[in-house]
Amino acid sequence: MNDTSSMIRHEKRSTAMRIHALQTGTVAIKERQRKGVGHGLRRRLNTLLDKTWTEPPPIYAWVIEHPEGIIVVDTGETARVAEPGYFPWWHPYYKLNVRAWVRPEEEIGPQLQALGIKPADVRWLVLTHLHTDHAGGLYHFPKVEILVSRTEYQQATGTAGLIRGYLPNRWPTWFAPHLIDFSPQSFGPFSSSYSLTQAGDVVLVPTMGHTSGHLSVIVHDGRESTFLAGDTSYTQQLLLDGVVDGVSESDEVTQQTIQRIQKYLHSVPTIYLPSHDPGAVTRLMNHSVVSGLSEMISATDQK
Ligand SMILES: [Zn+2]
Repeated sequence: MNDTSSMIRHEKRSTAMRIHALQTGTVAIKERQRKGVGHGLRRRLNTLLDKTWTEPPPIYAWVIEHPEGIIVVDTGETARVAEPGYFPWWHPYYKLNVRAWVRPEEEIGPQLQALGIKPADVRWLVLTHLHTDHAGGLYHFPKVEILVSRTEYQQATGTAGLIRGYLPNRWPTWFAPHLIDFSPQSFGPFSSSYSLTQAGDVVLVPTMGHTSGHLSVIVHDGRESTFLAGDTSYTQQLLLDGVVDGVSESDEVTQQTIQRIQKYLHSVPTIYLPSHDPGAVTRLMNHSVVSGLSEMISATDQK
């Protein structure tokens, strides 16, 4: 259907940690979901009524090879989306607003295997949020410790979750994630955080907006960071432009998160990697920190 859906694996090498990008197919959404138009309920309605599809962006999941163990961030989508009735027929979002293409070999399980990683080798699986294109590959990780923010899990369960656009009916029956309550320990501009590793170099921060329990994963070596951003913005440019997407519940909450991330990018040279940004892998490979901001920082340093 489209050329961009080919299986792609990329990695970034650093002294202690290596990060791989796994593309689990593509997902097309509407232009006004990627870049919201209007405010509040009208913005969300504009998304639902929009007739213009995006070029199908990639669906990325991430693998961090860490001295304390393998960390997987998100599971991408499943090839089962091609089965008739996989998405709820009655749901306006699934009827009108989303199309996904995933080949079986593009699922995260086979891709991990190709890297020589068995799902049982995974120390932690962190989910940025529970939308289907991040949780669709869950069934590959039956014995793994899975972390989700408590708020996200509560929002996503049951009929209310289904109506909100999650697919709790597709979760494996064994799915019982460790629910994260963020501690008041601040991390840069984030007033709360959760340190995943003993070393404190992989930190989860709340980045609510796109969903109310959304989190991001920051991998940092003291000098530089890689920011695994989930759906906080669909591209780096949209984040820098301060654009609220078309599905966030609250303009204010999303704006606050965007500003916090911008502040972080101002203070630490950071490779910023949203899950659906077609430029993300090139930045990971080329080790490209957010440009403009880093130039400003080095200019200030030299004074
Ligand atoms: Zn999402």
